[in-house]
Formats: sequence, structure tokens, C-alpha cells
Amino acid sequence: MNYRKKFLVEPGAKVRLSKIDASYTGKNETHEKALSKIQAHIERMDKLQYLLYADGSQSLLVVLQALDAAGKDGVVRHVFSGMNPQGTFVFGFKQPSKEEAAHDFLWRVHSRTPAKGEVVIFNRSHYEDVLVVRVHKLVPRSVWSKRYDLINDFETMLSQNGTTILKFFLHISPQEQLARFKQRLDDASRNWKISESDYSERELWPQYVEAYEDAMALTSTKHAPWYIIPANHKWFRNLAVSQIIATTRPRASGRSATNVGRRKPTRSHSGKAECCPGCSRRCAAIGSDGCRGIWSPA
Ligand code: AMP
Ligand code: MG
Repeated sequence: MNYRKKFLVEPGAKVRLSKIDASYTGKNETHEKALSKIQAHIERMDKLQYLLYADGSQSLLVVLQALDAAGKDGVVRHVFSGMNPQGTFVFGFKQPSKEEAAHDFLWRVHSRTPAKGEVVIFNRSHYEDVLVVRVHKLVPRSVWSKRYDLINDFETMLSQNGTTILKFFLHISPQEQLARFKQRLDDASRNWKISESDYSERELWPQYVEAYEDAMALTSTKHAPWYIIPANHKWFRNLAVSQIIATTRPRASGRSATNVGRRKPTRSHSGKAECCPGCSRRCAAIGSDGCRGIWSPA
């Protein structure tokens, strides 16, 4: 099953979260079968990152958004485990500091976007400025309502600079959230993950749903798509997210990385050593003869 197609929020389409089953686990998928698939995706992501780093002309930004306990931390832990820490960075965005709040809402985010060759994961993001900020009326509507266009412009600019952007909303049901809160209370090793504010935020579920639906409908674009991932089952969430990342081909301004990979070497291969993992050819060193053969079609 191609989850990239299935869970994509089509640009311009309305989003109705109530119509999406948070407990969905795919056709013919089982937890057991998924584990080996997830492992294969993780290995492929490791190669993707290796190539990005070696190529040094593009980058990847993964945005994770969700209501509390939907699994953002779990995705970071389980799906990105295979990536080389050299070149992969995770940033969590919490309530803005005094200094951050004194700037425009994209200021703190822009400084964390990936440099060429890097993979960056945002655990929460600039979207909080049209989510929690909207729900809690931290700024007037006249301010937050203009931010969708500003976000689209910002992401367009990143994309034109060679950043591939993937945005995931981890979709859980209120019942599943409550069950996870209870687990966090019951398990001393997880107590730190739960606070009273998690329960008060829960009261605002419908307002958050509305804010998420608008945000995804207004900012899912071809170059920065949203994916809504059914996340009541952690294994399925990891399967879908890892498949989508592993099968996404970075796209720099005007040229796709697939084409970079297929580019004919300008000099012949020396045959001395493998240039990169997964490369079907053999050459002396990465880039020395233009070989970036790792890029095979998904
Ligand atoms: P957690 O991810 O549970 O550690 O909580 C981080 C908290 O920071 C969440 O409640 C977010 O909604 C909040 N947060 C993140 N960004 C912003 C923002 N721009 N303005 C206000 N609150 C934010
Ligand atoms: Mg929280």
C-alpha cells in the first residue's frame, strides 16, 4: 500500500478529521509483518541521509505535529533511530522564550531549518502559531489568520532553496489519548511525560481539531505536503511515517534528486571502492566522478 498517496492532504482539499479512522491499520498489515518493513524503511532512510550529506546540495525537513500523547516523541525515537547523528537534528518547540516572543513567529524556526546536506526534525513547529495560539487566543484572529499565507511563503522559500518538506499530523482518538495519559500516570518511569495541563488541553479537543483542519487545508502544498497518519496503533504509525519518508525523493529547485542519481558519470568508474552504500556501481570516492548511484527509484 502506498501510504504517501493514501494519507496525503491534497492541496486545497477540505480536511475532516472525524472522517479519518485513527485506528486504521491498513489492508493485510499486521504488527509482526510491519516490524520488518519498518526496519527496511529505516535502512533506506539511512541511505537517503547518507546521500544528502554526501551530495551537500539539498536538505530534508520533517515536521511532526499532534495533540498530546499522539506519538511525536515515539516517531523520533523509533523512525529516526537509523539515521546518522552527524547530519540529523531534532528540535522541539515549546512556549516561546522572552527573546523568541519578541521576534516574529518564524524567527526561532528559521534558524533551525536544515542546512544543505542536513536532515532536521521539528517536534512541534511554526504550526503552533496557528494552533495553540489560535485555540488560546494568544493573539487576535487578525494576526493568526494571516499566518497561513506567511507559512506558505516561508515553506516555498525553503523549498526553492533545496529543502524537501514533509509534514505529519499524528491522528489519535480522544479515547486513545486518555488511555495513554493513564499509562503515563501508572508507570513511574513515564510520569514525567504527563502534566495537569495535558488534561486541561484535552478539554479543548474540538477547538484543536478545528484549528488543525484549517491549518492542514490551507498549508498542504505540492512542495510541503501534509500527511494525516492514523496513530492509535503505534506500530502502524511508525510503518506509515517511515514508508513515506523512505519513498520520498528530494527535489531541489528545478532538478530532482532522482535525476541527480541517474546522472551519467562524467568520468568512468575506477572500480576501486564503493562510493556509497547501496550504490550499484563502484568508484573511487563520492562525487569524484559524479557518481551518486544510490538514487534508485522507490
Ligand atoms: P510538550 O510538547 O508537551 O513538551 O509541550 C510544549 C508546549 O509548548 C505545548 O503545549 C505547545 O502547545 C506549547 N507551544 C509550542 N509552541 C508554542 C507557541 N508558539 N506559543 C505558545 N505555546 C507554544
Ligand atoms: Mg504536553
